[in-house]
Amino acid sequence: MMNLKDLSLSELEQWCAERGHARYRARQLWRWLYQAQERVPARMTNLPERLRQQLEDETYVDAVWVDKVFTDRNTASLKAVLRLCDGVGIEAAALLYRFGYTACLSSQAGCRMACVFCASGQSWERNLSSGEIVDQVLRLADVAERPMSRVVLMGVGEPLDNYAQVVKALRQLHQPQGVNMGYRHMTVSTCGLVPQMHWLADEGMAVNLAISLHAVDDEVRKALLPVAARRHSLVEIAEAARNYSERTGRQITFEYALIDRINDSDESAQRLAEYTRAVKGHVNLIGLNPVEGCELMATPRAGQVRFLQKLRREGISATMRRSLGVSINAACGQLRRG
Ligand code: SF4
Repeated sequence: MMNLKDLSLSELEQWCAERGHARYRARQLWRWLYQAQERVPARMTNLPERLRQQLEDETYVDAVWVDKVFTDRNTASLKAVLRLCDGVGIEAAALLYRFGYTACLSSQAGCRMACVFCASGQSWERNLSSGEIVDQVLRLADVAERPMSRVVLMGVGEPLDNYAQVVKALRQLHQPQGVNMGYRHMTVSTCGLVPQMHWLADEGMAVNLAISLHAVDDEVRKALLPVAARRHSLVEIAEAARNYSERTGRQITFEYALIDRINDSDESAQRLAEYTRAVKGHVNLIGLNPVEGCELMATPRAGQVRFLQKLRREGISATMRRSLGVSINAACGQLRRG
């Protein structure tokens, strides 16, 4: 049996054609899947009966089920514990901002990058398929009772370590006959996988790219993000970031979690300012969120404000991200394999 949502629209056209149906049937089916969100082929009333039977016999529609939902009463943000067809668990979150909900999606069950401050990096199971990534958006919309306005690939997993399926999922979400989300409303985060950043620059998608930097010294970075930082230096990351920005016209965001006495000195702020200026990027600061088993602490609030002001005095575009979902363990670095 095949997950229908693992197919792109052109693959679905091909699938229909191979079974003797006109290609426009694929577009009808696509609307059933992503606009009407119909799960039962028998109810797809404008499709011929033979096609409905073939769908019933050869495919399935649901790839992701909701096990549990936690709601943060203060922010109306929510976290969903999700189950995949083979029983693997993942988590995703819907974070409420002024403009609506942002879906924070998982791209892998677990993560191979082993960043020391991250719950997701403590185990590894498998990559998610494009259909499993796309279905998270639909399930989150179900539980939030509102469509998702934006998606960020910042949940469990390193998105660029599952490159092909992530890119395919973003194209599926963009498809006008379906979810119809603009690429500028999508953000891919990476801990700095340089070759994939270059590939993404050539995809013609111009999604936002957020780089989890967290340190401006290669040795400190190796201690915090051991796998990624051993593969690629800060210089290589800056080159890939500059190339991405030039090719897509998108400003790069550097994510920087402030960690007490590790990366929050005035000198770190100065070096971060220089690094960011060189690629005309933006800095998004956040206090490190607590994760079980990790002894690192967030920089105290006063230190966070001082760091932000220092960047701004250097003329750097910088913001302090509101940490949504901490009470339900749905904030950055807190999502895990279910
Ligand atoms: S921070 Fe991102 S890349 Fe690092 S372990 Fe967590 S999910 Fe993986």
